[in-house]
Amino acid sequence: MADIIYFVIPCYNEEEALPITAQILYRKMRALQSAGRAASQSRVLFVDDGSKDRTWEKIEELVKTDALFAGVKLSHNRGHQNALLAGLMTARESADVVVSMDADLQDDIDVVDRFLEEYEGGCDIVYGVRSSREKDTFFKRTTAEGFYKFMRAMGVEMVFNHADYRLMSKRALDALADYREVNLFLRGIVPLIGFKSTCVPYERKERVAGESKYPLGKMLAFAFDGITSFSVKPIRLLAWLGLGILLASIVAFLYVLAAHVSGWAVPGWSSVVCSIWFLGGLQLLALGIVGEYIGKIYAETKHRPRFHIEEYLRAQAGRVEIGQ
Ligand code: UDP
Ligand code: MG
Repeated sequence: MADIIYFVIPCYNEEEALPITAQILYRKMRALQSAGRAASQSRVLFVDDGSKDRTWEKIEELVKTDALFAGVKLSHNRGHQNALLAGLMTARESADVVVSMDADLQDDIDVVDRFLEEYEGGCDIVYGVRSSREKDTFFKRTTAEGFYKFMRAMGVEMVFNHADYRLMSKRALDALADYREVNLFLRGIVPLIGFKSTCVPYERKERVAGESKYPLGKMLAFAFDGITSFSVKPIRLLAWLGLGILLASIVAFLYVLAAHVSGWAVPGWSSVVCSIWFLGGLQLLALGIVGEYIGKIYAETKHRPRFHIEEYLRAQAGRVEIGQ
């Protein structure tokens, strides 16, 4: 018997892209159903991440037009990762297997066939990996590459060039549900789950409509969160840097002492001022990084919920139901 497949799509201000995306996903799911690869209870589940435009109205319309569509509305904007998690956890209740993707169709939808082949062959997690980023802007491409390299150097094992286009089995989703952290970085957590997994390369396309919802500020915050949620290396680096500076200052002290004893020391304030600024800066930087970790501990100890679902719209037995 065919498996119940859920496509999960987080959406933030995607009213322009949504109708096109919905149509393409509709066709894909129907094709999978007629090929006997997806059960009739399969769904395309959109998660509205507190959009400010008419995204939710669009989702409501879709759910009314066809039972294939379902929608989850978050109570306010929680960010891509939390929205995706909300979708995955909702889908987990009914699905055998879930494919997550962005609302802008940058990820080639036909690759889902290969995802499913791997799944049918026994894989629990299939990562979509971008084989080229030519359609991304130069800036996006270089910052993204730098990010992956930096993350690896920081000891965070991530799948290179994989965003959140991936397939996860019910078993993998159940494992994901056990990770209770508030500072959520799915791309770092999913590889920790283990199970049999593989990568499928694909070409990344341009956005079908609308603009990127990841401006530079959000991208930097995402990278910073990723690093500090997963790695204690920055703190260790600081400790090493501190040790290095300490050793260097012993050498400098010996030099100054020698200069003083031999009587050729010149009274100079510039070096003093320089070192005060340097050390002051270093200390502030160290405090900032330590503070970041303390902030994370603070957030984790509160165990705040990661999202609230305001509405869950889905069609059941021919009518639209509003649940939860
Ligand atoms: N997104 C979201 N909440 C946010 C920001 C983005 O749910 O706060 C969604 C967005 O609608 C899209 C996906 O996350 O489906 C990826 O965003 P985008 O395509 O803008 O990022 P990019 O591809 O430019 O990195
Ligand atoms: Mg995109």
